[in-house]
Amino acid sequence: MDKNKALEILQNLLKIQSVNDREAEVADYIKLLFDAYPAAQVTEVNYAPGRSNLVITIHGERPGKMLGLAGHMDVVSPGRIAAWRHPPFAGEMDQQNIYGRGASDMKGGLAALICVLLDFLANKRAFAGTIRLFATIGEETGNYGAAQLTQQGFADDLAALIVAEPSQMQVEFTHRGVIDYELNAKGKAAHSATPDSGNNAIDQLFCFYQAVTKLMATKTKIDPILGPLLHNVTQIVGGEQINTIPAQARLYGNIRTTPRYPNRDIMVELQSLVADLNQQPKNQLTLRFHYPERPLPGNPQAPFVQLFKQVASRALGQEVAVVGDGGATDASEFIRAAQKIPVVIFGPGNTSGHQVNEYLTINDYLAAMTIYQQVILHFLR
Ligand SMILES: [Zn+2]
Repeated sequence: MDKNKALEILQNLLKIQSVNDREAEVADYIKLLFDAYPAAQVTEVNYAPGRSNLVITIHGERPGKMLGLAGHMDVVSPGRIAAWRHPPFAGEMDQQNIYGRGASDMKGGLAALICVLLDFLANKRAFAGTIRLFATIGEETGNYGAAQLTQQGFADDLAALIVAEPSQMQVEFTHRGVIDYELNAKGKAAHSATPDSGNNAIDQLFCFYQAVTKLMATKTKIDPILGPLLHNVTQIVGGEQINTIPAQARLYGNIRTTPRYPNRDIMVELQSLVADLNQQPKNQLTLRFHYPERPLPGNPQAPFVQLFKQVASRALGQEVAVVGDGGATDASEFIRAAQKIPVVIFGPGNTSGHQVNEYLTINDYLAAMTIYQQVILHFLR
């Protein structure tokens, strides 16, 4: 695709303020781009008002495998707008870079996938099998767009998946999962001079805190790529005033799981820990999980991973590393439908995502397009 057209598409995506919402506007724009090509099957999957996923399916000349391509349409908040050297939703550009919220994470990757598909359609490139693009909502706040598409069967026939999250032009084959939990303690208020007539909710939290710290310390298996399981209590809220025994207290914890410790096992252990603690007369604890995302297991030697490495190394003129990453992606949901498929996280972009002055180098953007195109043509030969 023409370089200017490719940059214009990314600029237009960056101008849409899809901050944890309004992905339907992004979906509408993408739909418009594919309007000229009846060979592209476009399905909009609505999640909530103003929030729609988009699935674009293109069949090759002959039957074959299905390759999935995924990118999310939401971006995180721009933070303090005055701190940006270029406005966050203007799509400004200079000789080297394009600037804006989502340039790296990940409208750059999404735009690169879109441009590759448009190029396939415009030039009638021959391939066997099916390419399916998933443009998702709500990745940053819980991957619920990918969850919805997976539930509705859109990922059932995948043979491999590329997630275009920014990977600093490295090939990621595995990543951590995440479990966020919320623990509520219900006590009874009382004057602090007569504490026995109340029930201190903060004491209950400490009781849990000690127990959970002990439990997590037993998780000593180390993933060779990702490292140990990580657990942190990240937020505590509670109490009413200094001379009142607190009736309510709440604690939030964040666990970064690895394939060594499947999410389900950890969640079951946490639940039984809380059940045990509730056997003590004063404890009234309730545990809730928020959008747990499973870790992505992977094999660095998988042919798809190696194909990606070869293609990327050739295109970039240097050996590209095969690595793991700490953050969860939409792949955590898509692999529920296709548990054994190889997944590669590869996308243009750097570590400027989620910060002010997010940017993407034009070189990375264009190189990613070349790499996607060649991987698709090889995989669906
Ligand atoms: Zn992202």
